[in-house]
Amino acid sequence: MNAGAYGQEIGTCCTQVTILDNDGNIRDIATADCGFGYRQSIFQKNKATILSATFQLPATSAQGKTANDLEAELAECMAKRKATQPLNMPNAGSTFKRLTAGSADTPAQIAPGYYIEQAGLKGHRIGGAEVSTLHANFIVNASGATAKDIKELSEFVQARVAEKFGIQLKREIILLGEF
Ligand SMILES: Cc1cc2nc3c(=O)[nH]c(=O)nc-3n(C[C@H](O)[C@H](O)[C@H](O)COP(=O)(O)OP(=O)(O)OC[C@H]3O[C@@H](n4cnc5c(N)ncnc54)[C@H](O)[C@@H]3O)c2cc1C
Repeated sequence: MNAGAYGQEIGTCCTQVTILDNDGNIRDIATADCGFGYRQSIFQKNKATILSATFQLPATSAQGKTANDLEAELAECMAKRKATQPLNMPNAGSTFKRLTAGSADTPAQIAPGYYIEQAGLKGHRIGGAEVSTLHANFIVNASGATAKDIKELSEFVQARVAEKFGIQLKREIILLGEF
């Protein structure tokens, strides 16, 4: 799904993906044909099995950065993540996708967590599922949550945010099956 964080996405440095397609053929897909976008790629649609991928990273010197600079950047990102995300509780990452508002010339990113927090939903629980008190865009398993609890809580959050701000949040988490 082209995971990304802090301004970088995995698709940016991916040069080739080798797949087993649904007809049983092994094929190489060039990065231009991977359909990488925000949290998306063709692999979500074609249901092929990824066998391997090739990545090319720019030489650090080309960016004017040393290995030490990159180590420092890495440590900074990890520290930021630890401080802002509920990594000590089971969760599936961001519940809702960022939304783009504004015009084509001046697009603005809408952070779902801000609106969920403003709707007073931090700490709100359904069954064992809870809107994280640390980061409102995370639903955590606070105590024996079922998939149904997670689904119902995410729908409750969508309804509340729509009612209060007129914004329709779209789930980033994909639910498998009916609950
Ligand atoms: C605490 C936390 C923080 C997160 N923060 C971020 C973030 O900042 N940015 C971000 O983008 N995401 C974030 N995520 C989401 C994260 O990117 C996904 O959870 C992760 O990419 C899923 O990969 P996986 O291999 O663990 O899961 P899996 O469930 O194994 O795979 C995920 C999907 O890929 C498919 N898949 C797996 N293997 C293959 C294969 N070989 N070929 C084809 N399809 C396959 C599966 O069927 C499934 O649909 C976060 C998640 C957590 C838990």
